[in-house]
Amino acid sequence: MLALVTGASRGIGRAIALELGRSGYDVAVNYNRSESEALSLCDEIKTFGVNAKIFQADVSVQEEASRLFSEVKSSMGAVSVLVNNAGITRDNLLMRMKPEDWLAVINSNLNSAFYCTREAIRDMAKSKYGRIINIASVVGLTGNAGQSNYAASKAGIIGFTKSVAREYASRGITANAIAPGFIETSMTDILKPEVKENILKSIPVGTIGRPEDVAKAVMFFVSETSGYITGQVLAVDGGMTMC
Ligand code: NAP
Repeated sequence: MLALVTGASRGIGRAIALELGRSGYDVAVNYNRSESEALSLCDEIKTFGVNAKIFQADVSVQEEASRLFSEVKSSMGAVSVLVNNAGITRDNLLMRMKPEDWLAVINSNLNSAFYCTREAIRDMAKSKYGRIINIASVVGLTGNAGQSNYAASKAGIIGFTKSVAREYASRGITANAIAPGFIETSMTDILKPEVKENILKSIPVGTIGRPEDVAKAVMFFVSETSGYITGQVLAVDGGMTMC
């Protein structure tokens, strides 16, 4: 079976793509700018004896998402597992947030999931099987000062996930979201040490999460045995939110 992971060149997406390959899935690795990272990820995935290929596309643009799916289909086949992971931050307080930073985040984090899910769902419905996993964030559940654009995109993806789950449950397709807390990637590397210290204090488990922690949760939703679970949001956050 074929899995497509958006934004798989680095961080959480990379860990998800690796875990899928390790579990026997062929993997279509989408990236936007980090080609060499995507290529070395493919080499690593292939060591598990599965097929892996890279596909460049900026999934925040509808035409590019559409091209991505036609390229993947013609070179690897239909997608059975879609992980909408690509995402960015453009943090600022509301009054200082530029409309272009609002739009960039909504396009990259939310609209991309709409474009890619719409492309993937036709073949999934035809084969009466599909697994859609959307990477949200705890910020989409709680909100966060300085991240109104990001929180709106992640809350949006949760509502989107539940709607897709309701529309396609009868076709053997599940749609679930994962809400990571504070995970060590380049997205969080940019935070100041004192900000990281404060966040750490709010995590009951007492450690920062790893991309692999999110990847393991994705594998739970991907598994055939989780077919009775749809429209759910699973926080992978060391107990940070518990809501
Ligand atoms: P990251 O290390 O910054 O990696 C982001 C990845 O997304 C890169 O592979 C990047 O590809 C890709 N990407 C961004 N925009 C894209 C676009 N328009 N088209 C295609 N690919 C695109 O971030 P991360 O921490 O792994 O985050 C992954 C996801 O987890 C995001 O949705 C993020 O919001 C979510 N999340 C992260 C955390 C955290 O603490 N890290 C917490 C909650 C949720 P290129 O490098 O090839 O451009």
